[in-house]
Amino acid sequence: MFKTRVGKARIREETILKLQYVIAAALSLAGTSGTVVSAQDLLLTGAHIIDPETRQVTDGNLLVRDGRVAGRPDSIPADFNGEIITLDGKWVMPAFVDLHTHSFGDAVPGGRPEGLGTPTVAKHYLYAGTTAFLDLFGHEQGLVALRASQRAGEFGGADLYASLSCLTAPEGHCTEYGVPTRTMSSPEEARASVADLAKNKPDVVKFVYSPSDDQPSIDKATLVAGIAEASRHGIKSVIHIKTWQEMREAVEAGAAAVTHTPQGDMPADIPALLVSHGVVSIPTITVHNEYLNYFFDPAILAAPMAQKLASDRVKAAYRNTEMIARYQPGYDERKARNEMTLKSVGALAAGGVSVLLGTDGGNWGTVQGYSVHREMIKLSEAGVENWQVLAAASTGAADFLGLDYGVQDGALANLVVLEASPLDSIANTQAISLVIKDGVVVDREALLATTDQEG
Ligand SMILES: [Zn+2]
Repeated sequence: MFKTRVGKARIREETILKLQYVIAAALSLAGTSGTVVSAQDLLLTGAHIIDPETRQVTDGNLLVRDGRVAGRPDSIPADFNGEIITLDGKWVMPAFVDLHTHSFGDAVPGGRPEGLGTPTVAKHYLYAGTTAFLDLFGHEQGLVALRASQRAGEFGGADLYASLSCLTAPEGHCTEYGVPTRTMSSPEEARASVADLAKNKPDVVKFVYSPSDDQPSIDKATLVAGIAEASRHGIKSVIHIKTWQEMREAVEAGAAAVTHTPQGDMPADIPALLVSHGVVSIPTITVHNEYLNYFFDPAILAAPMAQKLASDRVKAAYRNTEMIARYQPGYDERKARNEMTLKSVGALAAGGVSVLLGTDGGNWGTVQGYSVHREMIKLSEAGVENWQVLAAASTGAADFLGLDYGVQDGALANLVVLEASPLDSIANTQAISLVIKDGVVVDREALLATTDQEG
């Protein structure tokens, strides 16, 4: 979650997430259809194969077997007994991963959130070529049940990974949404809380560390103890920070990742500090500024993928003249802040930091699935070169979750086929021709047809 931009008014608006969230978590197990199909051999022929890890494009065939990439044969293997897909001139690359979302659904400015529920959000992600997402705080027990249900094959879509909870101070950020969370005031409490959470096997542990905030925060000793306990259980820690000093202290405390991009000039030593500690940045540029773009640049929600993935209520909310008028006065100032955000993210990447893709979906301006592509555009605008953007959105983000994505032999066959080169223009990631997940060609339109939105 992210609430610092528009202060208390927005916090109030977002507290209505509470009911919606619980309802979505409860409903989402019901009525999900069996969409899991078993893998068959695939031979993708005549494609430009993009490898974000080696930064090479090779032309040829790509064989997929048992859900994994299985070579680049020059001709059809003698024992091949699957589907041949002719991709002449199209571009194949590893699928995308979002490392920061809240999968209850979409926020709606001025109204109650669109409580799509995690299974529907998972379908939206998959439609957008994203085969995994990391939920960084929702209803803990709901997410535990949903993850188990999905892993048992009860619903499809992109793969759900989750921090499950948000670890924070009493009355700290994350407590304002009304969703149960875990609070702590001392190193002892942090250790106990993480040990208890670990029983539910979170894929990462998320801490809020923001002493600069107007809401209470855990102190550094508590953060250090919590991260150490998570490490003891073999779990990475992702730290929500707001200032450069907080980012610095989170790195020193043992974070695996820091998320969000502070305002103000970045201290010159920050990139080297992250690099030397092996800490990745999940800057979530989208959540910092995209809601204004939705209000003031109608083309963004008019894009074909946004038309498919944003509900009519979401789209209408950003065309509401009252809301547009309310945000007009601050638009120029916020545009300047946006420039600073882009400059900082560009400097992190230029300094060798592994910058990875996260959207903070579930907030304003972050339509689930579509925002993955918007974040790539913003990374590009920040000066991150296209090769690095593609790695940030696919192989790099997957690697953070311990997943082997790629186009090399043995990698999970989670792939997207694009009509045009994303190396020429990052916006071409939206020109999706095919999505392949676990070696199976996805029926993208069917994913949207089964959407069970609440009215
Ligand atoms: Zn968040």
